[in-house]
Amino acid sequence: MAQSMKVRCCIVGGGPAGMVLGYLLGRAGVDVVVLEKHADFFRDFRGDTVHPSTMEVMDELGLIDGFLKLPHQRLQRLEGDFAGTRVHVADLGRLKTKYPYIAFMPQWDFLNFLVEVGSQHPVMSE
Ligand SMILES: Cc1cc2nc3c(=O)[nH]c(=O)nc-3n(C[C@H](O)[C@H](O)[C@H](O)COP(=O)(O)OP(=O)(O)OC[C@H]3O[C@@H](n4cnc5c(N)ncnc54)[C@H](O)[C@@H]3O)c2cc1C
Repeated sequence: MAQSMKVRCCIVGGGPAGMVLGYLLGRAGVDVVVLEKHADFFRDFRGDTVHPSTMEVMDELGLIDGFLKLPHQRLQRLEGDFAGTRVHVADLGRLKTKYPYIAFMPQWDFLNFLVEVGSQHPVMSE
């Protein structure tokens, strides 16, 4: 059934870019809607790593506490055994950031979280 809606801003695509933009506009008081062609975010191509810079942005937006309550695993050091030689590949603990690790979390959980916090602003919907 056809539905009509009048908004100031219409964002097409509910990936990370569209959802974060929708959140930012909604909380700035802009009448916004995010249109996503799928009924949910559960897509094979969606990744599962959230990087330190993304968590800093979540922190700046005041969303980090809720974000880190979502089920996730943290990776800080990466080592490998190559033909018997132990190789130290990465140590994110050396980064000068508040969140020196990669959070493993399905991207659809992250997107659902953005829907939840965005819905607290009266005019944003999926
Ligand atoms: C295999 C793979 C693994 C990845 N792994 C990671 C990872 O682990 N960590 C990480 O940070 N990044 C990862 N990425 C990159 C990350 O997924 C992308 O950078 C991110 O999804 C881009 O976000 P976006 O919002 O620009 O686009 P998209 O996520 O592609 O979102 C676009 C949205 O628009 C919707 N859409 C398209 N056309 C229409 C239409 N006409 N009407 C309505 N909706 C529409 C689509 O359904 C989609 O949901 C991975 C990418 C791939 C391909």
